[in-house]
Amino acid sequence: MPLTPVDGEPDPDGDDCVACGRCCHHGPQTVHLLEADEARMGERLLPIYTELQDRPPHFRFVKNAGERCGGLDVSVPGRYPCAIYEVRPEDCRIVEPGSPACLEARRLGHLGKSVEFKRER
Ligand code: SF4
Ligand code: SF4
Repeated sequence: MPLTPVDGEPDPDGDDCVACGRCCHHGPQTVHLLEADEARMGERLLPIYTELQDRPPHFRFVKNAGERCGGLDVSVPGRYPCAIYEVRPEDCRIVEPGSPACLEARRLGHLGKSVEFKRER
């Protein structure tokens, strides 16, 4: 079930993130891994949390758990910590608190499509 929108500006230091988790709610093949992301995640975690596309070019993505990222720990209701936070891919790091993608996710209740994963200059 989609999450409700969140009002207000997020804490710039990310203190609201675990209670929010909106940007970690999205469809399959959203969080893409580059080579550096794969190296950071390591051989043990890669098969648990990621999968390759069936077809060429066989990009690797974080698995999806139906409307949310497979890396999200939903064991405690209303809390959304990332189970692989320290080694999360660059795509996730770009969505900083207060960034356009963050604000859109909070407004929609999930990661939107109008903001791509890209850093502001
Ligand atoms: S949408 Fe923003 S406040 Fe919410 S978890 Fe993502 S970065 Fe944090
Ligand atoms: S890997 Fe972690 S930070 Fe990235 S979308 Fe998934 S749960 Fe969120």
